[in-house]
Amino acid sequence: MSEPLIQQPQTQLPLIQLVDVKKTYGSGSTEFLALKGIDLSISAGEFVAIMGPSGSGKSTAMNILGCLDSPKFGQYLFKGAHVEDLTRDQRARLRRRYLGFVFQGFNLLARTTAQENVELPLLYRGDNAEKRRAAATKALASVGLAGWEHHTPAELSGGQQQRVAIARAIVTEPAVLLADEPTGNLDTQRSHEIMALLVALNKDHGITVLMVTHELDMAAYAHRIVTFVDGKIAKDVMNEQPTIPSLADTEFADLNTTEVI
Ligand code: ADP
Repeated sequence: MSEPLIQQPQTQLPLIQLVDVKKTYGSGSTEFLALKGIDLSISAGEFVAIMGPSGSGKSTAMNILGCLDSPKFGQYLFKGAHVEDLTRDQRARLRRRYLGFVFQGFNLLARTTAQENVELPLLYRGDNAEKRRAAATKALASVGLAGWEHHTPAELSGGQQQRVAIARAIVTEPAVLLADEPTGNLDTQRSHEIMALLVALNKDHGITVLMVTHELDMAAYAHRIVTFVDGKIAKDVMNEQPTIPSLADTEFADLNTTEVI
């Protein structure tokens, strides 16, 4: 057994804290400052939408928040631990233990069933077959896909594929869900259903959600909207009246009766 990554569970600390984070791409005369000093503090249980024009640094910031990349300058504290000081392997462990990812293009393995796609993070974690099967079945049920376990992505609609991807993201019981344009490839109806699911995971199960979106309608579900412009945070506002999902959009998933892993 390796030692725990995070040694200081202090309840008052923000879950996530970026302090004057800068990120450059390239070097010398081609060096480009993509993040120009980001300060951002996020508490456990928040639902934050990240908006901003193309090229404003949203993906760069999400890569850092998702521990896929390290800031060049500044600090990233996750539960008080300095992520910028971690090795690549330690960051990977932090990612596996605390973070779940959802992407615009779903990123499912094509010739692999929904069940197997959802089991994948557990396979990487070394869980045995029985444990994997039970957890994946439960995760798929929690996103309204009980009975669809043996379908491959080609046999599922876009909305269903994104729900499989969300099941895969939550099967490890992450503290944070990072969603990069999760509704970008979906029609309006499917988009609202996916938002209803994210709201339920946030509200009923306490998962902190960070979501990049271009769509105001989708950002309106979040409790806080952070806007990036030109590598900086231009606006950071609370949304006092977040959109409440309609009953019809929540009906597909049996979230209230199916215990989420
Ligand atoms: P957004 O997600 O808001 O569209 P990005 O974070 O992708 O913005 O990009 C921010 C800036 O950094 C852009 O000007 C982009 O061209 C630049 N950039 C992003 N990734 C790279 C890279 N790998 N190499 C060089 N420049 C990059």
